[in-house]
Amino acid sequence: MNVLVVNCGSSSLKYELFDMEREQSLANGICERLGTDGSKIKHERADGATFDADVQMPDHRVATGQAIEALTSDRHGVIDSLEEIGAVGHRVVHGGEEFAGSVVIDDEVEDAIERFCELAPLHNPPNLLGIRAAKQLLPKVPHVAVFDTAFHQTMPRRAFVYGLPWEMYAQHGIRRYGFHGTSHRYVSLRAGQYLQERGIPVEDQKIVTCHLGNGCSMAAVRAGKCIDTTMGYTPLEGLVMGTRCGDLDPAVVMYLAGTLGMSLEEIDQMLQKQSGLLGLSGVSNDMRDIHKAAAAGNERADLALHLFAYRVRKYIGAYAAALEGLNCVVLTGGIGENDYLQRRWCVQGLEHLGIVEDPAKNLAKYELQYTDGIADIGADDAPGYLLAIQTDEELMIARDTIEVLAAG
Ligand code: ADP
Repeated sequence: MNVLVVNCGSSSLKYELFDMEREQSLANGICERLGTDGSKIKHERADGATFDADVQMPDHRVATGQAIEALTSDRHGVIDSLEEIGAVGHRVVHGGEEFAGSVVIDDEVEDAIERFCELAPLHNPPNLLGIRAAKQLLPKVPHVAVFDTAFHQTMPRRAFVYGLPWEMYAQHGIRRYGFHGTSHRYVSLRAGQYLQERGIPVEDQKIVTCHLGNGCSMAAVRAGKCIDTTMGYTPLEGLVMGTRCGDLDPAVVMYLAGTLGMSLEEIDQMLQKQSGLLGLSGVSNDMRDIHKAAAAGNERADLALHLFAYRVRKYIGAYAAALEGLNCVVLTGGIGENDYLQRRWCVQGLEHLGIVEDPAKNLAKYELQYTDGIADIGADDAPGYLLAIQTDEELMIARDTIEVLAAG
């Protein structure tokens, strides 16, 4: 069966079509800047052939139509018609406490996703638009929702409840939810298989996964289940990210409002869009630019690099305590997969936890050699494993889609 995976942002729609008999991607693409004059589609087939075009796409429905047209086109397509799409898997950011796994989208599920727009006002509304658009264009096939929060639903209360008055959780749902769950699940599964092949059974596995991209988060995974994660009520908590601040004393917000007279919108904008690597360095939110600036002597950029890695290290230590041990650290996402210096700094000085980088294996500057998506960059004689793993959230969504349908 072919499964179409759809991931909608506020002004973009990413898609990928998989042949799930062979678990192979056939084509993928992105429709960008929806609703503006400059909307574009970029489409790439698995054989490397590409197609880019400026197309008027006022909304997600038109974008979904364009994606299907690209997939079925005589020139750039990979299938003959819509009929060859057997199911659609949708990335949905927030599933609240209701969804600990993926589900077929019926009216009730759609209502729940709509309810959780309150919890994820930037993400769930475009996800819902994508679902409704795809359902209109592909009404005969099942649609499955795969939630970013689901993997984290196994956290114990002590990890997800904040130290606020109880009613804040009980009545208002204010708690740690965690995000990037599909990526953490994918790489922890891959790492788990890797450990199992090396004699560590699932029940003994204590893995810390670090998803380091534009958004960054970590998860502590014990025996295949998430027991803690760094993102919280929203994706703002935890690590320092491209433009988000990560952990912060909430009293800073009071100071910004009370003493500096900033409005809530201004504070929100600052913490979400003007902080992190960008705010610290004043250069960029892109790790590659920060490295260049630091190498050219920019001290703030240098601080941003090391503050970023320090926060990751600190959480690895915290999670080793939460897991009562540690036998593997996984690095993934654009930075984790590509940045050998950050990979080094993020685990520097963790020998006492059994995690030791092998510089010779990690050194392959920007060109780490992955075997089936995994590069083992740990020292051979270290007790723990250090792995860089190429994440594949889309494949995970396609797999879930098949599994949910098979389960009936
Ligand atoms: P997103 O979270 O948007 O999916 P990615 O996972 O693609 O983002 O990660 C983007 C980050 O990865 C950026 O900070 C970018 O600089 C960084 N990155 C990508 N390639 C490299 C590289 N070769 N070296 C260092 N950083 C890289």
